[in-house]
Amino acid sequence: MSELPSSDEKSTADGFALQQKVKDIFFQPRVLVVDDEERIRKVCHRLLTQEGCDVAMADNGIKGLKMIDETHFDIVLLDLMMPGMSGMDVLTRIKARHPDTVIIVITGYATLEHSIETMKKGAFDFLSKPFSPQELRMVISKAIEFIRTLQDISSEKSRMRVMVNTLREGVLTTDHQKRIVLANPAFLKMIGSARRSAIGQDVRVVVDHQRVLEMIDQAIEQPGDQFAEITDEITLTDDHDQEERIIGIRCIPFRDRLNRNLGAVTVFHDITTLKKMDQLKSDFVSMVAHEIKSPLNSILMQLKVVLDGLAGELTKKQTEILSRSADKITSLADLAAELLDLSKIESGLINQEREELNLTNLIAEQVQFYKGQADAKSIHLSKKSCPDEMFVMGNRTNIEEVLANLISNAIRYTPSSGKITVWCDKNEDFVNIHVADTGLGIPEEYKAQIFDRFFRVKNEKTRYINGTGLGLAIVKSIVESHNGTIQVTSQEGQGSHFTVSLPISQYKI
Ligand code: ADP
Repeated sequence: MSELPSSDEKSTADGFALQQKVKDIFFQPRVLVVDDEERIRKVCHRLLTQEGCDVAMADNGIKGLKMIDETHFDIVLLDLMMPGMSGMDVLTRIKARHPDTVIIVITGYATLEHSIETMKKGAFDFLSKPFSPQELRMVISKAIEFIRTLQDISSEKSRMRVMVNTLREGVLTTDHQKRIVLANPAFLKMIGSARRSAIGQDVRVVVDHQRVLEMIDQAIEQPGDQFAEITDEITLTDDHDQEERIIGIRCIPFRDRLNRNLGAVTVFHDITTLKKMDQLKSDFVSMVAHEIKSPLNSILMQLKVVLDGLAGELTKKQTEILSRSADKITSLADLAAELLDLSKIESGLINQEREELNLTNLIAEQVQFYKGQADAKSIHLSKKSCPDEMFVMGNRTNIEEVLANLISNAIRYTPSSGKITVWCDKNEDFVNIHVADTGLGIPEEYKAQIFDRFFRVKNEKTRYINGTGLGLAIVKSIVESHNGTIQVTSQEGQGSHFTVSLPISQYKI
């Protein structure tokens, strides 16, 4: 072996790189040198100890094997040509008993056949005699890199396993052939599976819920240039208490670097309690609104009687105070009425009676109705003519309410001398109702929230406009209960354009 002086620059750089690698892995690498040549054992020992490894030595194969059985070594430097047990035999035995150990073979006659044979037996790399300190460092450095990668993979796997297994949400991962590759305990419990593991099974054997299987199919068949999360809610019966559980499901495909679908991850979230709370809240709101509405109306009536002078003459100041009170009570009564509407819609009480509605006529009626209010603000409210007569199956009061809310919002949020246009058109199986204004517009960051209950955009411009924040929530509930959708495009300071799409009446397609 030709040993280079350790002061050599290249050698110092290699040494530094190796020391860094040794530091990077969280344990001190344990290296065993098995060689009958004392000189080689000593040189390896000195060099690797300098680099921070914990080095042990054995002068023959039997001793080496014994040491390996007693303590774990991360790396074994193994001479092939030794008296007694051959290096090749030692290699085979180490691999059989300690597959994790990385073996680097030291050989004086590195032929191609030899290399192939040792590799087949599981050697990680070669070092042919004579070798330089750099060569030794290089090969050890490579081995440490390999150990570190293995360590990273296994710690990542273990972290994932702990995380997924302790989640309360059920997680099911299927490959592209719909075989289960991961099913956590929460999922197995939710579907009432008695199995402790379902890995490797066809998902259809383990899950007997049609909708879940459809969602997995949809996710796996999604083209590579699309990415959509498929969501739904299903009901499952709990095996223990036979109670119905409502489960929110999200199914997402996962892909390789070339965007090919590798499978799907499905997450199951038990939302029974949330749903129950929501129901309780709606019931409570509806009860309170109902209880408030009648007394408010009777207070209002009595105030009107006083204001009309039927209970004696009022001073100017008294009239002013009572009028303001009446205004406040009117908005409170409106709020109660809207809350009641909303909870009725949400509990499915409204829109039972459906009829075929001529939208063209409904729009004309509502535009006519709001003309006065718009004129009072010098707003130009008009109806664009629709291409045909359009029909939807719906509840008259509900659809009128949708139009009324959108038009009255447009009037309230459009400054004077603005323009509001209402029209409808058709695409495929849907009729679209459009209400567009040239008003305040909706700031981008609030667009997603305007349909939430009680949400109002609060800024300098909307400050003096009264409202409850319930109008659009009611509109959305009505539209959705008619299997339709509502969308808004808006530019702050330029105006808003609301589009309601409703399925065309089947009789008129
Ligand atoms: P509100 O009673 O406050 O009008 P809505 O639910 O009808 O309640 O509307 C929610 C919020 O959406 C409003 O407070 C307003 O900020 C915004 N908004 C609704 N319609 C328009 C519109 N046509 N132009 C601008 N902003 C609007």
